[in-house]
Amino acid sequence: MSAGPYSILFEPVKIGPVTARNRFYQVPHCNGMGHIRPRAEAAMRAMKAGGGWAVVANQETEIHPTSDLSPYAEGRLWDARDVPALRLMTDAVHEKGALAAIELVHNGNHAQNLLTRAPVLAPSDMALDYALPKQARAMDKADIRALRRWHRDAAIRSRDAGFDIVYVYAGHAMTLAQHFMLPHMNDRTDEYGGSLENRIRLTRELLEETREAIGDTCAIAFRFAVDEMLGSDGMQAAEEGRAVVEMLADLPDLWDVNVCDWPNDSITTRFQPDDGYQTDYIRFVKQVTDKPVVGVGRLTSPDLMVSLIRKGVLDFIGAARPSIADPFLPKKIEEGRIDEIRECIGCNICVMADSQGVPIRCTQNPTMGEEWRRGWHPEHIAPKGSEEAALVIGAGPAGLECAMQLARRGYAVTLADAAREPGGRVLRESGLPGLGAWRRVAEHRLADLRQRANVDLFTESPMDADAVLETGIPNVFLATGATWRRDGVGRSTVRTLPTLSPDARLCTPDDVMAGRMPSGGPVLLYDDDQGYLGGVLAEALVQAGLPVIFVTPASIVSPFTELTLEQHRVQARLIELGVDIRCNRTLVSVDATDARIACTYSEREENVACATALLVTERHRETTLYDALKGRGGLRHLGLIGDAAMPGLIADAVYAGHMAARNFERDPSAVDAEWFRREIVDLREKMPA
Ligand code: ADP
Ligand code: SF4
Repeated sequence: MSAGPYSILFEPVKIGPVTARNRFYQVPHCNGMGHIRPRAEAAMRAMKAGGGWAVVANQETEIHPTSDLSPYAEGRLWDARDVPALRLMTDAVHEKGALAAIELVHNGNHAQNLLTRAPVLAPSDMALDYALPKQARAMDKADIRALRRWHRDAAIRSRDAGFDIVYVYAGHAMTLAQHFMLPHMNDRTDEYGGSLENRIRLTRELLEETREAIGDTCAIAFRFAVDEMLGSDGMQAAEEGRAVVEMLADLPDLWDVNVCDWPNDSITTRFQPDDGYQTDYIRFVKQVTDKPVVGVGRLTSPDLMVSLIRKGVLDFIGAARPSIADPFLPKKIEEGRIDEIRECIGCNICVMADSQGVPIRCTQNPTMGEEWRRGWHPEHIAPKGSEEAALVIGAGPAGLECAMQLARRGYAVTLADAAREPGGRVLRESGLPGLGAWRRVAEHRLADLRQRANVDLFTESPMDADAVLETGIPNVFLATGATWRRDGVGRSTVRTLPTLSPDARLCTPDDVMAGRMPSGGPVLLYDDDQGYLGGVLAEALVQAGLPVIFVTPASIVSPFTELTLEQHRVQARLIELGVDIRCNRTLVSVDATDARIACTYSEREENVACATALLVTERHRETTLYDALKGRGGLRHLGLIGDAAMPGLIADAVYAGHMAARNFERDPSAVDAEWFRREIVDLREKMPA
């Protein structure tokens, strides 16, 4: 098949002893499956291979019990008993014609060793990379020799597990190889410290020894963070970053380059809207080495991809998030189905799941993480079981996804929304500072729905029970959403509800998102939701010229955003904007001119002068129509989905919409059984006496 203007992306590229069928390279990414859920991981990676990626990598894979990332579910290759689980992935990836890569790692002081209780290792004596009263010890020569042996043995086991590409990993500020390189982590005075030549000695040894052990059959990839994004306080691409590439130029078979740490590498669109944002840092690499180079930076636009190859910036288009949002990205480009690409919105909900130690999920791609458990395929869905018609009410993320999937199954679908424009909360939230890219959630689905003959979309169509029954459509899905509460009820009001006097001026996130800004400041923003929205709304208020006092019972601003790698930036942004931040405070009362807030520890109260209080607390589910229809009866199917059933993330709403469409007309007991599908520890193994 000709890929037309994009044919350059489909040229095969040699990587040492192996050849990639095209230039699409899924770089290593965490996924909350790893050694705990190997079947789920194999199925997820295989889906990408089926979607056309030429290389599919796993994620950081611990090589030894002194690099124990528990409780996180990363890869594990401590000994030969880990090989069969990894073999599941390599077999599945090979079956779909892709190369399989493994990212070996020793995490140094980034491993807590909570499970193993092994000593934590580092170039120098230092604290752990976590708030634990425990330290890493400086490695002596015997430790370094042992580490090299562990790495070599893991490389051999990787080859035995069927991997085609084996990584040496010095990135994300998470690995010993990188820690040795960085002067602020390495104060050694032996041949592994001091000059750059000395600081990269360990990496050089790991690269040489990996090649010597398996280089005849496997390609050796080197993942290297060329810039720490700390300015002159850290390694910079223009200085030592470049020098490292020059000194090691031809040692690996492939350079996988990025910036660190993880919040910089996987920055969200809220703080970096530009695709290809790493290009300026990594473009020098190809000038220094003859080996192929892969780089990332939320690369989803085929035109950008082609220009990066043509300009000699990259040989491979690397992707983690774009491959999660659309595992079939390469195939869609190859087949000229550019409009069908599900573009990553850069929200980092995928990262959130890994940070929580649960399987990956994605706002744009509800099938992500469900390939094995539910057998979901991002591009295929079972055809309709009958000639039924369906009515979906509410065109937010849940309703749009539900309608789109029902339509793909072949049902006649009517989608109605009261609003002038479809999109629901996606539309509302994407109008807030930094969240513009979230619009893609609605745009992707609307583009699909609008070109289907079996879909009727009605806007400005508020529906009540009579209107629903008058349509005569017997299958009704209600995705009517939720609205923010105006009464102060939230997670911290279990014991006491704030007293809101009748003359207090109150508003909710829905008011602000609808453009009904407080008429004057200062505005006391009370964030008891503690998600992302409070921080974003504070920015919106400041942009509107209103002084903001940000009050939250949490000890930091928007604690949820730690999981999406954004919290530091969120709080820094509010400080820069001059927001008056008061953490560890609950709301006691609001009247016309003042609010009272109390310390969550001492209960000591203080007065805050404010003209308006913006309450970001909880949401009310919008179930009026559902309750009315339930009372009337007569429908074959009546379902409540999305925020109307359970207020949550946009990702949850999309997932619920998808699930409802998949499960329509299925046997409920089969649907139920899927909740229980999991990977259970095999107790048959006998330990040696
Ligand atoms: P979700 O996140 O679950 O998709 P949203 O709040 O984003 O929920 O979207 C709900 C949508 O439902 C909104 O666009 C709203 O206009 C629409 N809606 C709610 N009730 C009705 C109704 N009775 N008739 C038509 N549309 C409705
Ligand atoms: Fe992109 Fe968000 Fe999906 Fe992650 S969860 S891949 S950031 S759309």
